[in-house]
Amino acid sequence: MSAKVWLVGAGPGDPELLTLKAVRAMGEAQVVLIDDLVNPAVLEHCPNAQVIAVGKRGGCRSTPQAFIHRLMLRYARQGKCVVRLKGGDPCIFGRGGEEAEWLAERGIEVELVNGITAGLAGATQCGISLTQRGVARGVTLVTAHTLDGSSPEWHALAKTGTTLVVYMGVSSLQQVQAGLMEGGLPVNTPVAMIENASLPQQRECRSDLGAMCTDAARFQLKSPAILVIGEVAAKAGSQVLSQIA
Ligand code: SAH
Repeated sequence: MSAKVWLVGAGPGDPELLTLKAVRAMGEAQVVLIDDLVNPAVLEHCPNAQVIAVGKRGGCRSTPQAFIHRLMLRYARQGKCVVRLKGGDPCIFGRGGEEAEWLAERGIEVELVNGITAGLAGATQCGISLTQRGVARGVTLVTAHTLDGSSPEWHALAKTGTTLVVYMGVSSLQQVQAGLMEGGLPVNTPVAMIENASLPQQRECRSDLGAMCTDAARFQLKSPAILVIGEVAAKAGSQVLSQIA
């Protein structure tokens, strides 16, 4: 029996955004460890697996990472096919790299399966093309929440000329705004704040850099949400500003 752990991206929420490979891995799984941002609807693809919720909102208040590591190891050493299902992509703010290294060091075979990350899906669901030709020369995925509590280099990020997609930013809107404005990004830079991207309860709040904090408060923006900051965020809004009026 070969011990194997699949680290699988479940995408942003809409079950139709799963990859075929994710579906195959779930179909083979005997044990599925599921994160809090995974839409439980995707579990229809693993009807025979034992499902264990290991996310903060999934049952345990906050399952320590070390415990998750040990759970994966224990089941893999029992020869079980283990799928660790993560929201979005396992390697975009998903600890996929850490978990893969930890398991590999212990001789466990690991296979990573991409998922569609929330930042890309959220933009697309709102009609925003993150690298629209002639408008943005690239895209930067960045978290507002760093491991050591330090602030990302917003000043430097303001100067990249790329669209910024900010993860885990809802509780740091003021720092994002202040840092980017101090870095020279104009106050009228378009901002789209997208909550529950790709799920039926998706909401989008269009604003700009100067007004993003007040607009988010009026909109009662909640996590999980991503921020898209840059000229492309003014494009093709389906509900531009009407939701916050
Ligand atoms: N690995 C995930 C990211 C996990 S970090 C991925 O690739 O998408 C958690 C952050 O992701 C949240 O704070 C939020 O910023 C973002 N996020 C995850 N799912 C989301 C969703 N459906 N809508 C909007 N943002 C989401």
